[in-house]
Amino acid sequence: MSRTGVKRSEELIWLFDLDNTLHDASGAVFWRLNGSMTDYIEQHLAVSRQEADELRAHYWRRYGATLLGLERHHGIRAAHFLAQTHALPDMEAHLHMPASDRAALMRLPGRKFLLTNAPAEYAKRVLTALDLASCFEAVISIEGMRTFGDLRPKPDTRMLRIVLARHKLPRARCVLIEDTVANLKSARRLGLRTVWMQRYLQHQLHGRPQGVCVKIKKLRALHAWGKQGGRQR
Ligand SMILES: [Mg+2]
Repeated sequence: MSRTGVKRSEELIWLFDLDNTLHDASGAVFWRLNGSMTDYIEQHLAVSRQEADELRAHYWRRYGATLLGLERHHGIRAAHFLAQTHALPDMEAHLHMPASDRAALMRLPGRKFLLTNAPAEYAKRVLTALDLASCFEAVISIEGMRTFGDLRPKPDTRMLRIVLARHKLPRARCVLIEDTVANLKSARRLGLRTVWMQRYLQHQLHGRPQGVCVKIKKLRALHAWGKQGGRQR
């Protein structure tokens, strides 16, 4: 038995996304990341600023990550791209997480993992700045999302299946908490429970899309939902 009285074998296993789930990345990070990715494309593919910006957006729409298109069509090395574009000097000064969210996350019973399409070094910097460095059992970053040599970030279901097997995490006990509905939908297809974090959405959306078990705006809501056994729709 754990201290919550729930048998260890029945406890929920929480997989948290990072950006726009644990903190507001739109203001602090994303606009700067877009700029540094456009800089990188302009420099390394020798195209105009406008072409670089269009390519960045095109690959993001087509593959869900600009890096996938650059790797596939231009032979860009992932490690070089990630290190160069995520340098973001002084990023830490602009990061913010509500104290109530942080307290709720730290108190949440069960095993906790971070599952982010961002690189490991960036995730480590964000977690350290938010004082969450000790919160997660493991950080699963984009470097750990290669399957058969290809980069397969969220929402790829094969990657998710392999990552869960690698960490010996039973799907039926896993919960993915995310702001991106496409990632929730693919996790739900694999049998995970899914929580749609809406605190940082730019536009408020009504209704609950297929593949979303529950919607929340504060991490505190996970406590009550978890106590009910992580009710599924
Ligand atoms: Mg996110």
